[in-house]
Amino acid sequence: MSYLEASGVSYIVDGSTILAETSVAVERGELVAVVGPNGAGKSTLLAILAGVLRATSGTVTMADTDIVRTPPDVLARHRAYLPADLLKEIRFTVREVVAMGRHPWSASADDGVRITDALHAMDLAGLADHVFSTLSSGEAKRTHLARVLAQETQVLLLDEPASGLDIGHAERVLTTLRRLAASGCAVVAVMHDLNAAARAADRVVVLGHGEIVADGIPTDVLDAGLLSEVYEHPIRVTDHPLTRGPLISPGEDV
Ligand code: ADP
Ligand code: MG
Repeated sequence: MSYLEASGVSYIVDGSTILAETSVAVERGELVAVVGPNGAGKSTLLAILAGVLRATSGTVTMADTDIVRTPPDVLARHRAYLPADLLKEIRFTVREVVAMGRHPWSASADDGVRITDALHAMDLAGLADHVFSTLSSGEAKRTHLARVLAQETQVLLLDEPASGLDIGHAERVLTTLRRLAASGCAVVAVMHDLNAAARAADRVVVLGHGEIVADGIPTDVLDAGLLSEVYEHPIRVTDHPLTRGPLISPGEDV
């Protein structure tokens, strides 16, 4: 059994199926990107994987344990979850918000180091004493990411971690996610930037209308025909002139 596994997960609200019989498996050491159009069910899937939303049917296991039966404090030491919609009105400093990530762990001598490392990873050292509610939305996003990093979990479930960030900080987030996967974490990130997914992910899961349309290595999955169909918009995939990796852009093939 994989480290994190959803089997036959469905989510139905008022008779409408938002996720249908979805199965996905993630191993430690893997960075999996979840992509797909608005409303495809990406955030719903991530919240179910995180155990914050209960599936209508199907199961999610983390380290062979059903997350529904995992006590919240145990879950919080095992997985960190970054929702897409983040709280903004928090009258604490950036450092205090990041320190909240340490809450699941009993106070330990290395808390300070973990918090400082997380602040540095998200380039927040200069903002550590700023009041969180005064930050720009990109800075606020980076603060929540640093809080999630400070939580020090084996599983990270991140809903659009790089959305709204400038190119440099977005790249910094991807580099951090790669480093976490390389250190043995299982990382799942919902992404809209298909080029970022192509570059950084070990695997890409494509969701469309509540169903997994494709799941595989980026070069297999990020196919022009498949993407054009799923996004209902012409998308071309060419070779990047420098990296030779896939370059995904909107428009018809020429
Ligand atoms: P994505 O993250 O891929 O954009 P979501 O998972 O947020 O999509 O939502 C998938 C679809 O399910 C959307 O059409 C959304 O409106 C709908 N949806 C999600 N949660 C609910 C709910 N509690 N009640 C009604 N509709 C919902
Ligand atoms: Mg979403």
